[in-house]
Amino acid sequence: MQDKKHISVVAGGAGFIGSNLCRRLLHDGRHVVCIDNLSTGCFDNVQSMVGDDFEFIRHDITEPLPIGIHADEIYNLACPASPVHYQRNPIATTKAAVIGTLNMLELAKASKCPILQSSTSEVYGNPNVHPQTEDYNGNVNPVGVRSCYDEGKRCAESLCMDYHRQYGVNVKIVRIFNTYGPGMASDDGRVVSNFITQALSGLPITIYGDGSQTRSFMYIDDLIEALVRMTATAKDVTGPVNLGNPDERSVNELADMVIALTGSHSRLIHTPLPKDDPCRRRPDISLAGRLLGGWHPIVELEDGLCKTLEYFKTKTKGKNLANVYNC
Ligand code: NAD
Ligand code: UDP
Repeated sequence: MQDKKHISVVAGGAGFIGSNLCRRLLHDGRHVVCIDNLSTGCFDNVQSMVGDDFEFIRHDITEPLPIGIHADEIYNLACPASPVHYQRNPIATTKAAVIGTLNMLELAKASKCPILQSSTSEVYGNPNVHPQTEDYNGNVNPVGVRSCYDEGKRCAESLCMDYHRQYGVNVKIVRIFNTYGPGMASDDGRVVSNFITQALSGLPITIYGDGSQTRSFMYIDDLIEALVRMTATAKDVTGPVNLGNPDERSVNELADMVIALTGSHSRLIHTPLPKDDPCRRRPDISLAGRLLGGWHPIVELEDGLCKTLEYFKTKTKGKNLANVYNC
């Protein structure tokens, strides 16, 4: 008789990180149940996986989950993540982060299984401590335009820890720093996808503010490895744990690198810095290294950008990207 397969439920599985994770879990021999409302994700991202070991359920996790779902492990990634997306309908964003997480925690409680919660470096807001360590409580504007996401994710962390303390749920909170790679949508609005698609189409590269603000960019494969390792940790490992690449770069540096790699003739233009845009971001990942068997990112920014470039070249072939940017 064949062994029953381990069931991985991935909420937000049709998005950028989710679809890469689903592919990895399938490859590892899991039965994957992908739940997504396709608000920012896309069925194309998962279509090729659909089969005996991959189920797709179109569902909004702010609504009670369909009856009959069982899980052996849960990854909760369902929430818009690009500032452009999460600010478009901020109330829906808070609901996805808070009510959505509550529903996923209920599933974890009923299934008695681990749940990985995708939190974010945004919980640190505009940080006064640099690099950011997990014990820094952050500097978030609670009433600003980013707070639907930042505070929503902070509340989700708090819910996870209360489910752990009150009901003994095996929670795993990871604070993900800026991640990029194949699977991102062309109209995602985040800096890496914007710069690459702009460079490929000869459109101006849009630097917000003077471009001196920094981020630390992690390639998707490095993140996926850490997510899988985190879910397999012992029950007393709840996190929060930072997951990111400490290689900190300014937005100007990123623009220069994308221009050099593409050979693009795009010009650089400066537009106003969005409100509450954090000035700098760099993770301290020593805790992740200790808990996740020496995990650390291995993909250099230039290599990761080259792979992402190839992905976008294929994806945008023959498309008029001016429509994406309303130019
Ligand atoms: P994404 O927008 O590509 O993916 C999010 C997915 O969740 C999409 O498929 C979307 O359709 C789905 N979704 C959104 N709201 C939903 C809802 N209410 N019900 C069901 N599905 C819903 O973004 P991503 O970059 O893949 O991010 C995935 C997760 O990782 C998010 O929770 C995000 O906060 C977190 N994260 C990402 C980054 C990053 O750099 N990519 C950084 C920090 C945290
Ligand atoms: N950014 C930019 N041009 C763009 C998109 C973003 O200069 O076309 C900047 C943005 O202001 C921020 C950084 O790049 O300082 C990262 O932005 P992103 O939206 O990717 O992520 P987040 O702000 O959530 O870290």
